[in-house]
Amino acid sequence: MQDLLNNLFQIKSGENKYIIKTDVDVCSCPSGSTGAFCKHQCALMELKKMRLPNASPVTPEDKHELALLALGSKCPPKDFFCNFKHNELCYNRI
Ligand SMILES: [Zn+2]
Repeated sequence: MQDLLNNLFQIKSGENKYIIKTDVDVCSCPSGSTGAFCKHQCALMELKKMRLPNASPVTPEDKHELALLALGSKCPPKDFFCNFKHNELCYNRI
């Protein structure tokens, strides 16, 4: 992975190299160029510990927000959505 400019990254995948532009959330691969979230964007998120808007809601915060939207007052508390695998502290904001 190479950091080219602000919001522009190059990532190698097999024999190919793809450009990811994070401010508009696109990748130069066939899937990512149509606006889909691709494996290159996923790899970039993991490597740079960043969040991209196209990513699936996978964080505890994301899950709580979706559940709150769907369930309203019946939504479980935020702690319910913490990761089981990592015994990390859940968010303290909101
Ligand atoms: Zn891609």
